[in-house]
Parts: sequence; C-alpha cells; structure tokens
Amino acid sequence: MNNAIGTTGLILNEPLLWEKGKRGRCGISIPKQDVPSADIAPSLSGEGPDFPDLSEVDVVRHYTRLSQWNFGVDTGMYPLGSCTMKYNPKTNERQTQLKGFAQAHPLLPTELSQGALKLMYELEKYLAEITGMDAVSLQPAAGAHGELAGMLIIHAYHTNKGTNRSKILIPDTAHGTNPASAALCGYKSVPVKSSEQGVLSKESIEAAMDEETAGIMVTNPNTLGLFEENIIAISEIVHAKGGLVYCDGANMNAVMGIVNMGDIGVDVMHLNLHKTFSTPHGGGGPGSGPVCVKKHLEPFLPVPRIIEDNGQYVFSEDFPESIGKLHAFYGNFGVMIKCYSYIRSMGAANLKRASQLAVLNANYIKEKLKDVLHLPYDRPCMHECVFSDKHQKSDKITTLDMVKRLMDYGFHPPTIYFPLVVNGAIMIEPTETESREDIDLLIDAFKAIVEEAKTDPDKVRNAPTNCKVQRLDETAAARNPCLTG
Ligand SMILES: *Cc1c(COP(=O)(O)O)cnc(C)c1O
Repeated sequence: MNNAIGTTGLILNEPLLWEKGKRGRCGISIPKQDVPSADIAPSLSGEGPDFPDLSEVDVVRHYTRLSQWNFGVDTGMYPLGSCTMKYNPKTNERQTQLKGFAQAHPLLPTELSQGALKLMYELEKYLAEITGMDAVSLQPAAGAHGELAGMLIIHAYHTNKGTNRSKILIPDTAHGTNPASAALCGYKSVPVKSSEQGVLSKESIEAAMDEETAGIMVTNPNTLGLFEENIIAISEIVHAKGGLVYCDGANMNAVMGIVNMGDIGVDVMHLNLHKTFSTPHGGGGPGSGPVCVKKHLEPFLPVPRIIEDNGQYVFSEDFPESIGKLHAFYGNFGVMIKCYSYIRSMGAANLKRASQLAVLNANYIKEKLKDVLHLPYDRPCMHECVFSDKHQKSDKITTLDMVKRLMDYGFHPPTIYFPLVVNGAIMIEPTETESREDIDLLIDAFKAIVEEAKTDPDKVRNAPTNCKVQRLDETAAARNPCLTG
C-alpha cells in the first residue's frame, strides 16, 4: 500500500474563536466617521453577546481549518451501506441557485409560480415512470416520512373499505425505520425471517399472512443488498388475503430503469431523493421522500396535489379521501430541483447505466474481498455487499477495529453491525460514482488491514492513529460532545 490516500498530512489545531479573539481587532474597514456620534436608543443598548474581535484572516482560517476536519464525499470514498453516499454532480446544485427558483416564495399566487409548479408536476411524472407507479406526491421530507405517508395511505385504504386490520409483516432484513413507521400508524409489526439465501420465502409469507394483516413492508433490494426475488409470488399471497404491498424504495439506486415496481406487485412505495437523486446527505440537511402509488391508492395521496388545468398548473385540495397534509407548503423544493436536473441531465439510458455500474462495483468488491473477509451470503448482490469479521475472530480483531484502521488509509468507514441478521456486519456500498482505481485502493486497504490483523494486531486495535482524535468512548462522546477539537 504505497499509494494509499492516507491521512498523514497536516491536521491543524484550531482554538475557539473566543480564545483567538483580541480586543480591538477588526474584520471590516469602513470610512472614518464624519458626523457627530449619537447614543443608541436606550432600548437597543445594554448587554449584548460577548462576540470576540477578529480579523478577516482569523475568521477565514478558522472556518477553512474546521472544514478540513470533515470527511465528505467530495474528499474521498464514503462506502456507507444503505446510504448511497454517491458523488452529486455540482451542476444540479447550481440549478437550485437560479434566481427564479432560489427567490421563489411559497406564498406567491400560482400564476406567478408556473415554472416551479411545472417542475414539480413533471418531476412527479418522471418518478412515476422510473418506479412503474401511477401517481406521486413530493410532499414527504425524508425516507421515513415517505414511509409514514405510505402507511397512512394503507390505513386509509382499509378504513375506506370498512375493514380494520392491525398488523404489518416486516422482514428481518428491512430498514429499521420500517417497523417504526408502522408503529406510528398504530400497526403491530410482525417480524418475518429471511431464508438461508438472505431473501424472503413464499412459505414464510404464506404462514404469516392473514386477514388481520394490512400488508407487508419490503425493503427491496433488502438491507443485505439482495433482490427479493420471490417478490411476485409474495405480492400475490398478500393481495389474495386483501393486504397491500409497501416497498421501501430507498435503495432504488440499484434498480433504476431495470425493475418496474408496479409490475412486481408493489402498491405503494417511497424514494429517497437525497440518496439516489443527487442531493448530498448525512449532515441532517433537507431531504425528500416522495410517495408513489398505483391507481387504486391515488385518492389517498396527501393534499394539496398539483394538477394541470387548461395549461395552468394549480394546487388542488379537492381529494376528499386524502390522508391530508404532511408538510408546510409542498415539501423541500430545493431537493426537487436537484432531482429534476439530475434526471434531465442523465436521461433514461444513463439512469439505467448508473444502476448497472452501482451493482457492478458492489459485486467487484464482493468478489475481490471474499477470500479475506467472511461473506455470509455468497451470491450476486445488488448495490451493496455484506461481510463479517468471522475470519478475524481468531486474531481477536473485530469489525470495529478494522474500520477504524480504514480511516488511517483515508476512507470513511462503511456501515457496521447492520443489518442485524449478520453478526459483526461490514456493509459496503461503493455506488456507481467511484472509479475502478479508487475501488481498488479500498480493496487493497482492506487486504492490508486483514494482513495487519495477523502480523501486527495492536496496530489495528489501536487505530486510528493518523486521525485528529483516536478511539473515543463513543457513548460518552454522543452524550457529552466536546466540540472544541
Ligand atoms: C435511508 C433509508 C431509509 C430512511 O431514510 P431517511 O431519509 O433517513 O428517513 C429508509 N429505508 C432505507 C432502506 C434506507 O436506506
């Protein structure tokens, strides 16, 4: 590993601005006062905050150094499974800054917001086409919010039929937000075990599905990175007993232009625009989790909906069976602009190619690392592959040790200890935006660490050594964060 990305460069210390400030220092220069001074009105005087006095360069260096302590997808590979941390082309960000979009106000009358409304209307159509569903609402602000919308829609569907169902089937490979969203709607989640192949079997659904059950929530591809290949048969079983199929589509990055979710029996699903469709995420910024439905669930979509009326785009609340409003105005518009720009700049063929490359990259890593890391499900994967630390047990090296060491090699650690069905899981999602060369560096780094685990285990156990901070007491750090570096 001579050409590791590494983190051995300068990592500068940085005091708080309050420690750095010096009385009388100033970051601005304004002309000398040439009028008599006047006292501030008594109501405006008094004790203000004790801001430090700083020069311009003090402030610029402070924030630039802090930014260098961060790791982001613009700095290096971020192979965080189930998160799709891919590179987001800057042009999509730039389109959000166009004046007509950036300065649009949600309270403007619709006749002055036609461009924004048209963008949202067309985006709903594009997302319907990509998923194979019939109608979309862009209101939900996150994946979990989209799940809640979907669960409310399922609930409204059953209530509307005069039935009252109390349970939802949730596979053990579902994302953790799924049972939480079902519970928020008052449903009891019934866990379903996956087969030895890491996917749901027809038999397990047959055994669990009954007429008290409102439906199933399937994460597909699931959190093992595997496609639920029995989904058509499973949908048929659920539908035959009057239930509905919810698909958590946050992992759509693996199947754009490849799987038509409508055709495989999905009734309702959500997407994560801040994963698949070019909005950076991870820092808690605005997101978007559009909910997509088949025709029979369209009446229940949240209001307002955007409709076209004589060539004009208008908001309509005239959907009496709607589950109601989920977000102020119409969701996070900036995220929608990035998504629209991404879809338009990629085109249908390239969206499909992006998914194919994401799958190829994950399978490449799986094949290259399966000799050194334990691969619990040795079969073709989708956008991510899941290993474990089973082979390192004899060296007394854990998943946590290995991924901490990975930081010394310049990579963000992958997702670890998730999904729960794999002990000591290491879940790698490279995404389509990484080059073969960068993926090879990640593979080499893992191989070097596995070797170190045998020859110099303390180096792995004590990692990271090149980072600004070493091993933290993670519980204490989360409860009592020390932000001074
Ligand atoms: C990320 C993710 C979610 C949750 O999305 P948020 O926007 O974080 O609420 C749900 N399901 C899956 C499979 C995910 O990967």
